[in-house]
Amino acid sequence: MYNFDTTYTKLNSKLFQLVNVPNIENPKVILFNSTLSKRLNITYSAKEPEKLLGSTSLKQPFAQAYAGHQFGYFTNLGDGRAMILGEHLNSQKERYDVQLKGSGKTKYSRGGDGLATESSMIREYLYSYVMKNLYIASSESLAVISTNQEVYREKVHDSAILIRVMKSHIRFGTFEYASQVLSKDEFQEFIDYVIGRHYSNITHETKKKYLNFFQKVIEKTIDMVVDWYRVGFVHGVMNTDNMSIVGETFDYGPCSFMNQYDRLATFSAIDTIKRYSFGNQKIILKWNLSVLGETLIPFFDDNISIARRVYEAELLKFDKIFDEKFSNMMKSKLGIIDFNDSNKLINYFLEFLEKNNLDYTNTFLELMYPNSFNESIYQSIEFKELRLAIKKVGLNLEMMKNNNPQRILRNYLVEEAIDEFENNKSLGKIKKLLEAVSSPYSQDDSLGKYQLAPPQYFDKMYQTHCNT
Ligand code: AMP
Ligand code: MG
Repeated sequence: MYNFDTTYTKLNSKLFQLVNVPNIENPKVILFNSTLSKRLNITYSAKEPEKLLGSTSLKQPFAQAYAGHQFGYFTNLGDGRAMILGEHLNSQKERYDVQLKGSGKTKYSRGGDGLATESSMIREYLYSYVMKNLYIASSESLAVISTNQEVYREKVHDSAILIRVMKSHIRFGTFEYASQVLSKDEFQEFIDYVIGRHYSNITHETKKKYLNFFQKVIEKTIDMVVDWYRVGFVHGVMNTDNMSIVGETFDYGPCSFMNQYDRLATFSAIDTIKRYSFGNQKIILKWNLSVLGETLIPFFDDNISIARRVYEAELLKFDKIFDEKFSNMMKSKLGIIDFNDSNKLINYFLEFLEKNNLDYTNTFLELMYPNSFNESIYQSIEFKELRLAIKKVGLNLEMMKNNNPQRILRNYLVEEAIDEFENNKSLGKIKKLLEAVSSPYSQDDSLGKYQLAPPQYFDKMYQTHCNT
């Protein structure tokens, strides 16, 4: 059962639109995350799609208004095909938004149909599942439910609703929107709500409170993006409306894990300038934080020029914080516990990967367990010398085991599994893939197939679509 206790609809009414639960005839559960359901004390089962879709919860769903910078350009947006059923409290009174994605039109739909294809919602389910299992802050997917409706994306597809669970769906873009449509006092009320809900340990001394909030968001989102670098994840559409205020990865559209290490790896077909490439994610995070921070400037100081300087000073600290966290993360991947001068070695190692088109995930595993992979480069003198140099200061196996996944979600396997589903509605490959990434850090020889990288040309040709 959902235990809704919704607070968002008590906020300024410009921030949302009240909507009705979708009226779906004969919905069917395609995928269901029973572990999540148990953890959140939602006692519904996969046999109760109507209940999962909120038909019996008698609460008031709503669509959220927000704006955002998409590929650098400001746009007014909002939940154009989603609604939040409510805020669910689990038995520890932890609060989670339960959102339906693909649930129909709202006033924010702009020309869209409000729907989502089954395959894109299955894709999101897969990616959120592996990210959570990799211990990366992420939205989670409770279920994919087919709706027996058709949806047109160049051709006809079946549509589905994803039930997405997050600490909240408040985004950087929600701040951009609220700062524009609300008065300063109203906006301050909204920020206070967000701080109370997500950053309640922040000091309440007024002037510092908002700066402290900004600092915490910077830290949380840096942690998130550094974690993406740890596992080779390319989000693909880091628009400010897809940046959660609590640093949870979400909106798994054109994302992919890269295979061969490549700072320019970009998979989204529409990202022709590689704005959201693997290597750019740091710079884009900083850019997105600068947009969020702009909205907060008036609360940093009553004197606007001092306030602006406070803001600028904060952004100036970004690189140092990021680089330190990044370096610590890389040290943990190389099993280096106590070696201060490791940056040169890390950079050399990454350059070696890039120069030789080596698989990012598997090369760390090869460092841990030599001769795991049948690649001639791993037998080369250069690699052996590099391994020895790392071994002198690192290769602590316990540390490496916790930071280097045995299995990521290989993009070519995702495509194979989804193709199979599209061709004959079989969930066989999808279920096997889910199983293979349910404990991605555990060694399991029987899952060796899921470790294999595709041929080098695959990533260069692979294109993902927001087509949704
Ligand atoms: P996304 O690319 O999923 O982050 O979506 C960007 C914006 O487009 C959000 O405001 C979505 O609600 C909206 N949107 C995406 N697809 C649709 C659709 N099929 N119908 C209506 N709105 C959509
Ligand atoms: Mg989005």
